[in-house]
Amino acid sequence: MRSVVVDKYRDKVNDECGVFGIFNNDDLDIVSLTHDGLFGLQHRGQESAGITVINEGEPYTVKDLGIVSTVFNEKNLSKLPSGKISVGHVRYTSHEYLDRAATQPLVMRYMEGSLALASNGAITNFAEIRQKLEIGGAIFQSNSHAEVVGYMISTHVIDSDNIEQAVLKTMNDLKGAYSIVISSPNKLIGVRDPHGFKPLCLGKINNSYVLSSESCAIDSIGGEFVRDIQPGEMVVIDDEGFRSYYCDKKKTTSLCLFEYIYVARPDSIIDGVNVNLARRKAGEILFKENPVDADIVCGVPDSGLDAAQGYASASGIKYATAFIKNKYIGRTPDGVGADKKQRLLKTRLNVIKNIVDGKRVVIIDDSIIHGNTSAHIVKVLKDAGAKEVHVRISSPEFIHSCYFGMDLPKSEDLISNRYNVEELRKLINADSLKFLSVDGLHSIAEGCNIGLCDGCFTGVYHADKPKIIFEDKFANKIKKY
Ligand code: SF4
Repeated sequence: MRSVVVDKYRDKVNDECGVFGIFNNDDLDIVSLTHDGLFGLQHRGQESAGITVINEGEPYTVKDLGIVSTVFNEKNLSKLPSGKISVGHVRYTSHEYLDRAATQPLVMRYMEGSLALASNGAITNFAEIRQKLEIGGAIFQSNSHAEVVGYMISTHVIDSDNIEQAVLKTMNDLKGAYSIVISSPNKLIGVRDPHGFKPLCLGKINNSYVLSSESCAIDSIGGEFVRDIQPGEMVVIDDEGFRSYYCDKKKTTSLCLFEYIYVARPDSIIDGVNVNLARRKAGEILFKENPVDADIVCGVPDSGLDAAQGYASASGIKYATAFIKNKYIGRTPDGVGADKKQRLLKTRLNVIKNIVDGKRVVIIDDSIIHGNTSAHIVKVLKDAGAKEVHVRISSPEFIHSCYFGMDLPKSEDLISNRYNVEELRKLINADSLKFLSVDGLHSIAEGCNIGLCDGCFTGVYHADKPKIIFEDKFANKIKKY
């Protein structure tokens, strides 16, 4: 068994990482820009953050467990030289422990220098590759997928003319979902898996190139979005300029639809679709599919807010702010008991009583995983005097798990897998409960220039699930930080 615990009190999906990189063709303060870029990607991972700068071929790294504002400070950033290339990473992990050895960028020595890797995703043949490498004598410091990718690249370097050939060969070996930013001593490389599960885009700031999980981070450093990296594409940036290659694998493209609903920041544009507009559209379609008479429409912060505005504008029902989210409560720490977890849930969202008192309320949220958050929301709204509470969810029911880098519980632990909509309505004590249809979900991403994945809603995946689940025999021996 993989060392993952299902936190039944964590009622949100967690994504897994944001990646960033700059190739400095100007005289940019590459350290500050990478730091600011990671701030722009903080929503994609809050468990560790890191920056590696390559100066005259040598890597310099600052990384640690924590969010961007706690990992970096003036003192440690001043130790990074303003170099030619940077790679940055923010991480969320599905593991029950926080393994310092797996913080990224991972820096590895190979025969031609150092590689720094920052990755987002899940390699579905990770267990097979790692087992093969271990039988061949490889030693790993962590159970990170990025470490295996780095090892494969360094192995392929032996029979390749250059690093980009080695990366392309590695892409042909990998299965699953990945967007990775890599630096060699003199190149910045970005790769996106042939399905395109995870976003990755290219930007420019002056004459310098930027790679980022999302366009919002390019905007936040004053850069200009150029284009998305295409599924199966590898881009290479060095002193010769910018080059693009494709790996041999051609696959059905399959961008994660949940990026538009929940994961990405609303000010990002992914594969031709503006995330804010997609969320508003989800609210509009949700109203058309599931209208209701009510006095106010409210969203559950943060990702329910845009959809609530869409629902309000399509219905003509007044939009109102009913909840204040305490942004300073992070992920529930390991080892915390059920009572404390329930208390944390209560303090995370607080209702504004005078807004909802005596009203028929439509409340919009992005998803239901275990149902405890929805039940809590309905209860506090009713306790605050709401006459009726109508729950509308801006995605379809989560019925199946995800194998492609989104930390969803196992199918059997998803509440919509165990109860139909009416049973679930009763469980959360709502006056009505409706979900966006799968067709509606696809409509929000109209104009997306690649195919879409809806596997966790339909059970139809465009890539193979992992055949073997990696078992880390030493996981419980790693110190919990
Ligand atoms: S299965 Fe669901 S969460 Fe996973 S990539 Fe597909 S749409 Fe995203």
